[in-house]
This record gives sequence, structure tokens and C-alpha cells, in this order.
Amino acid sequence: MFATLSDRLADTFKNLRGKGRLSEADIDATAREIRIALLEADVALPVVKEFVGAVKERARSEEVSGALNPAQQIIKIVHEELVTILGGETRRLRYAKSGPTVIMLAGLQGAGKTTLAAKLALWLKGQDKTPMLVAADLQRPNAVQQLQVNGERVGVPVFAPEPGNGTGDPVDVARASIEEARRKLHDVVIIDTAGRLGVDQALMQQAADIRDAVQPDEVLFVVDAMIGQDAVTTAQAFLDGVGFDGVVLTKLDGDARGGAALSIRSITGKPVMFAASGEKMTDFDLFHPDRMASRILD
Ligand code: GDP
Repeated sequence: MFATLSDRLADTFKNLRGKGRLSEADIDATAREIRIALLEADVALPVVKEFVGAVKERARSEEVSGALNPAQQIIKIVHEELVTILGGETRRLRYAKSGPTVIMLAGLQGAGKTTLAAKLALWLKGQDKTPMLVAADLQRPNAVQQLQVNGERVGVPVFAPEPGNGTGDPVDVARASIEEARRKLHDVVIIDTAGRLGVDQALMQQAADIRDAVQPDEVLFVVDAMIGQDAVTTAQAFLDGVGFDGVVLTKLDGDARGGAALSIRSITGKPVMFAASGEKMTDFDLFHPDRMASRILD
């Protein structure tokens, strides 16, 4: 495994006991370590550069405060800058003022969308909502069934095309689901859409058609934290092709250091809103910039 950023910084400062302002040489040595650690955590290079620049700037201008040694001071600056770049506050879901809130999920196949749909539904139940899941992924064999199984696990009904009615058109399914939600008084609708293995024009168009048909309150881009640098390219493609309001990072239980969170937020400007961290339906929570900063740092 990698040396953590905190360890790296502590090492750099091992022989340094001075108080007061940090020397330029200390700041450069520190910047080098931060740069390496962030690149190892799969943060995109332009984001690393900007980040290191901001940390250097602060390290130059701030006095080392009484209670902290220089290493602690730098770690504090890095932590604060990480929180800032990750969006500061947790961005909450925006619920519709009237009628059901429509949440549409988009992302590559394997990102964890179908699993996430059920986790989100369970979480919403905990917020006193009465969600409904919608199987608009009619591309992947078993996707509808998988959503139904997951829906059952969390006790949330799944709206899906009738078996025997052909494959159905995902746009029609999504549109009909909103009517169904109104009839059955569900206050949140979560639409699972198809993903492909790579970014693909037909997939983008289908997601865009569903978006146009149902006018979601939130489009969430679901991305596997383990894909590292590719996460940024994929996010940018979805932003251009479909557009999204927020990001859900999945598979944070793996050993990904969370660089994807930093890069996506910084490059797309869209907040990471939720984090999924395991196969259990309860392995899901709001994304906390502060906790992610600690994960990247520690
Ligand atoms: P989809 O193709 O985007 O709908 O992805 P799925 O929901 O089918 O998930 C793909 C695989 O990733 C499945 O084996 C899931 O069990 C697994 N998975 C989903 N979310 C997580 C997570 O947060 N952690 C881990 N370890 N595995 C996950």
C-alpha cells in the first residue's frame, strides 16, 4: 500500500522543529510529497497542480500557530483545502415542491447503479419517504430482475415492463412510472437506466431521451471509485451527453483512495452527494467532504 499523505508529511518534517514561518525549501519539499500522494490516489493532474498551488500559497502566508508544529500546520492546511475542493458542505437532495420527486440514475454498466438504486430507496425510507423503483434498464439481460430482487430486499416496489410485452421502450416505461407513482402516492421515483461498458452515443441518447420525457428533479451520475483516472473522462462524457446534478461514488469499500471524488468535483463542478461502500443495502450514506478529506490524508 501507499504511504499515507500524513506519514509522508510527517517524514518530511521529521528534523524540523522550528516555529514561525515555514522556509521556501520546506514548502517545496512538502509540495512534492503532496503531489506524489495525490497522484497515487488517482487525482487528475490539473487538479493536483491547482491544489498544490493553493496549499503552497497558504503555507507561505500563514504563521505556524502556537499549538501546532510545522507538519501539523501543513496537514491542517491540506485537510482544509481538501474539504474546500470537495465542495465544503454535503449537498442534500432537492425534493419536488409538488408531485413525486424524480431521481434518474446514469452511469456505465458495472458502476453499481442497480445496487445503488435499492440502497438509495432504503435510505429514503429512513427519511420517511415512500419511494418507488423503476426498471428502465432494458438493455442488460437480468437488470430488471436484479432490480426486483433488490427492491424486495429493501421492501420497495419496482415498476417494470410487463413480462411478455416485448422488451418495452425505456422512455415509455419511465414516463408511465411517473403516472403510477402519482396513482400509488409514492413521493420519490428512482429510475435505473441502462449503462454500457464504455461511453457510447446510443446509450447517451437513450438517457437524454428519458431525461427529456420525465424531467427529473435530480440526475445522479453513478461512478465506481475504483476506476481512478477514467472516472473524470467518463464523468465529462456524461455531463456533455446527458448532464447531471450530482455524483454518487460507489465501491468506496475497495482500496481506492478517493482521488476520483476530488477530480470529478473539481473538473465537472458537480458535487458528490452520496457514497456507497459495500454490498450490503445499508452500505450507503450522504457524502461528507470532511470524511473524504481524512480518507485521502490518512
Ligand atoms: P450496474 O451495472 O451499474 O447496475 O451495476 P450493479 O449494481 O449490477 O453492480 C455491479 C457489481 O458491483 C455487482 O456485483 C455489485 O454487487 C457490486 N457493487 C455495487 N456497489 C458496490 C459497492 O459499493 N461496493 C462493492 N464492493 N461492490 C458493489
